[in-house]
Amino acid sequence: MGFLSTLTGSFSTPADDNPTVAMMEAAYAAAGIDARYVNVDVSSADLADAVTGAKAMGWVGFNCSMPHKVAVIDHLDGLGESAELIGAVNCVVARDGGLIGENTDGRGFVEAMRELRHPAGTHVVVLGAGGAGRAIAVESALAGASRITIVNRNASRGEALAALVDQHTAAEADFEPWTQAYAVPTSADVVVNATSVGLGEADELVAVDVESLRPELLVADVIPNPPRTAYLRAAERKGAETLDGLGMLVAQGAVAIELWHGVTPDRDVMRARLSEVLGLDSG
Ligand code: NDP
Repeated sequence: MGFLSTLTGSFSTPADDNPTVAMMEAAYAAAGIDARYVNVDVSSADLADAVTGAKAMGWVGFNCSMPHKVAVIDHLDGLGESAELIGAVNCVVARDGGLIGENTDGRGFVEAMRELRHPAGTHVVVLGAGGAGRAIAVESALAGASRITIVNRNASRGEALAALVDQHTAAEADFEPWTQAYAVPTSADVVVNATSVGLGEADELVAVDVESLRPELLVADVIPNPPRTAYLRAAERKGAETLDGLGMLVAQGAVAIELWHGVTPDRDVMRARLSEVLGLDSG
């Protein structure tokens, strides 16, 4: 037993409002991992130096959040398959003397989804084509979904994502413009809100036709806070199974811990601590 802890953390700006450190350190404590997760406010101008510093100090990895998810790529030695397709990195892993960029946002979604539905052969509808939508669409396709439908207001962004998934994965992908309340097709198995609608607004409902939310559907949301969004509450009323954004946030952190330490952490511990620091009633 020595006095030198393994170092990990997060680079973003602003960083003060990022609660990830609480759940990561709770996971380390519960798993008996002698590691620290340091939440660091890094400006865009200082990103290169911060990455060099992490390397010099022997960090085993770090998360990148806004606004560094794309810019960090220039400072890395390589990219994992999904990060390359998504074009963004939120988790850097020190591997074989180099720094490799991974994207755990979509993997977090798929891991959380796996507990409720096996992704193989599913038709996944993704509402939104921003960073979260790209990650979820690509990762669901790589996990074996057979069809991905992208629904987005901005047609060029939505079409580009559908084309990317269609051309670079085994899944078929199509795009639907989002001009009115979206009716989920009967072929869909999973529908996920990957827009920012509902963030910090418990009663803001994403534009879906609530009548199309069937009991057979898995209805998911990326919004971590508040986790019981108006959309998920509507889905529950229609008898559908739901997956909240807090679960995805916990799962992407758990995937990072697996990549950095080779240990599977206790997600219940992580969720409970995250709920606590976010002031949520229940985990
Ligand atoms: P981006 O800014 O990259 O993308 C935003 C997306 O939301 C775009 O597709 C945009 O559509 C769409 N959108 C915004 N407002 C509306 C609206 N009123 N109606 C329909 N579509 C809308 O953001 P991110 O993808 O990075 O993040 C999205 C959300 O995901 C955030 O709230 C974030 O907190 C959450 N998130 C959660 C994670 C988790 O682990 N739980 C991980 C990562 C993100 P358009 O292209 O037409 O403008």
